[in-house]
Amino acid sequence: MAKQKACKKCRTIYEGVKCPKCGSIEAVDNFKGKVAILNTEESEIAKNLEIKEKGIYATRLR
Ligand SMILES: [Zn+2]
Repeated sequence: MAKQKACKKCRTIYEGVKCPKCGSIEAVDNFKGKVAILNTEESEIAKNLEIKEKGIYATRLR
């Protein structure tokens, strides 16, 4: 199983060489917490993390 990592820029969790959302290769693999954002308009977490698109995100990066 490939190791999951979180994009440093947009917090998207992904596997592979670069972020599928923003294309950044800067990532951390020891992120904490995982949250699925389904509705950015109604999600407090999305607001707090400044997430604009639905997806799976890391809540805390280290
Ligand atoms: Zn990204």
